[in-house]
Amino acid sequence: MAGSESVVIRSGLFRYPVPEGEQPALLACRCRGCGRIFFPAREICPDCFDAGALEETAIRGHGVVHASTVVHIPAPVGIPAPYAYGYVDMAEAPVRLFALFTGAEPAWFTPGREVELVIGPVRVDGQGREVIGFLFRPAAERRER
Ligand SMILES: [Zn+2]
Repeated sequence: MAGSESVVIRSGLFRYPVPEGEQPALLACRCRGCGRIFFPAREICPDCFDAGALEETAIRGHGVVHASTVVHIPAPVGIPAPYAYGYVDMAEAPVRLFALFTGAEPAWFTPGREVELVIGPVRVDGQGREVIGFLFRPAAERRER
């Protein structure tokens, strides 16, 4: 829930705070007709054009970095440099997600690295509030400390 100290980056992308004992999950939908998974969730599958064919599903867990970029100048929206972002192919669903990386040096996130989904602060907005979004960090067994 949005409080005075944090806001979610966009409603409907994930549940926040993450319920006790649950893995962070993104709210997506799957087409019963063709099996495609969409994130963010949408109303109609662009292949099947059947509004009733979509069911809710969750995207969670691990993925593999497909591509990444390290940025060396601070983002005007409040992300301190250096930082990394890129595409992640999820292990449990045929979905490629675009997100920021966290939890290791930006240069760590090279293609092929195993990462896991987390929900947490992405940046600080103009009013000093943490903006909560989804990110990827090194997968637990590979994390560098
Ligand atoms: Zn479909």
